[in-house]
Amino acid sequence: MKQPIQPASHVHDSHHQPLPAPAPSPGVTRGHPDTGLSAQQQTTRPPPPPTPGGPHKGRPCSCPQRAPPPEMPTSLPFPGTEENRHRLERYLLDHYAASSFNVCEHQPLPMMSGPPLSLTIDPNATPKPYHTPIAVPVHWQDEVKAGLDRDVRLGVLEKVPLGTPVTWCHCMVICTKKDGSLRRTINFQPLNQHATRETHHCPSPFHQARAIPRLTKKTVFDAWNGYHSVALDERHRHYTMFITPWGRYKYRTAPQGYIASGDAYTARYDSLVAHVGSKTKCIDDALLWSETIKEAFHQAVEWLQICATNGITLNPRKFHFAEDEVEFAGFTVTPTEVRPADKFTAAVREFPTPKGITDIRAWFGLVNQVSYAFSMTAAMSPFRKPDISSSGAATS
Ligand SMILES: [Zn+2]
Repeated sequence: MKQPIQPASHVHDSHHQPLPAPAPSPGVTRGHPDTGLSAQQQTTRPPPPPTPGGPHKGRPCSCPQRAPPPEMPTSLPFPGTEENRHRLERYLLDHYAASSFNVCEHQPLPMMSGPPLSLTIDPNATPKPYHTPIAVPVHWQDEVKAGLDRDVRLGVLEKVPLGTPVTWCHCMVICTKKDGSLRRTINFQPLNQHATRETHHCPSPFHQARAIPRLTKKTVFDAWNGYHSVALDERHRHYTMFITPWGRYKYRTAPQGYIASGDAYTARYDSLVAHVGSKTKCIDDALLWSETIKEAFHQAVEWLQICATNGITLNPRKFHFAEDEVEFAGFTVTPTEVRPADKFTAAVREFPTPKGITDIRAWFGLVNQVSYAFSMTAAMSPFRKPDISSSGAATS
């Protein structure tokens, strides 16, 4: 879980719990794991010729076929020395490439162990259906459609069959991320108003980061498509229907933006790793600590084996093995201290001059993210009563 650096958008229920930042969800334009290309780049570049019946079974990518967990390594392939740290990291990435670290977007995503998510919606609620999709600008259309197609391949979404009457039907909203790529969100707010959470509490990221002992080797895992690994009860999928310019879709898995998805995901993941020691975990980020690289190896193997066995997919790009300094849940954890990750302090430094009340709210939201680290009352007081000039720009 990353700390959102901007206040939750209207599609998220900010009163309940922060939802994961885009990293664990497949943003519309997340680069393909093989090529690092965005969905649009992939659609404009001809795919390599398929190999029918070959090792990739006709897929236009070279990812390994999804496989059950491999045999668990019982000893280190190389001595656990600092010089071998990268080799050991590479070994683990390779050993679990077909299972825990398999982020192929052309094969169905494994589902996490545990019961499917049931949506508890007030039976007396009047469904709110949208019949007209929000228009998608022409120059975004290929990218957005490619993202929908990818999620159908992953088994996260399915097209609504012809002849299905509408009850609930939500809006798809496309917005741009800071880097200019696109993010697809579904506005589940009308449904969330009639839904109940399955509250599952986690300690705050700061307290989790502070719990990591000094001078330890740290291994970090970040789940890939976290919420989307929780199956959604087939009887409740119709609640998640949404309309797009390409027709109606519904979720087969826990949707981002639904009020209880975070509870459901975290409760299942937490229960699968409850017995593991020397760890801290924040939604889909996990950190294991140990005294030595050798110990770190065995810990990592245990974690990877649990994930491979229970349908938790991990992002190979965000795997860090036995390091002294790591990023975790929005923090930089050094051998001796915890401080806000550089991207947060950079976001504060580079925040554009607020031009109105919305910008001011965003500014306070951002500063609140790092408020544990300093006394903000005096620093923020000039922003509390800004002069609003006739142009609407706030000055301080
Ligand atoms: Zn692939």
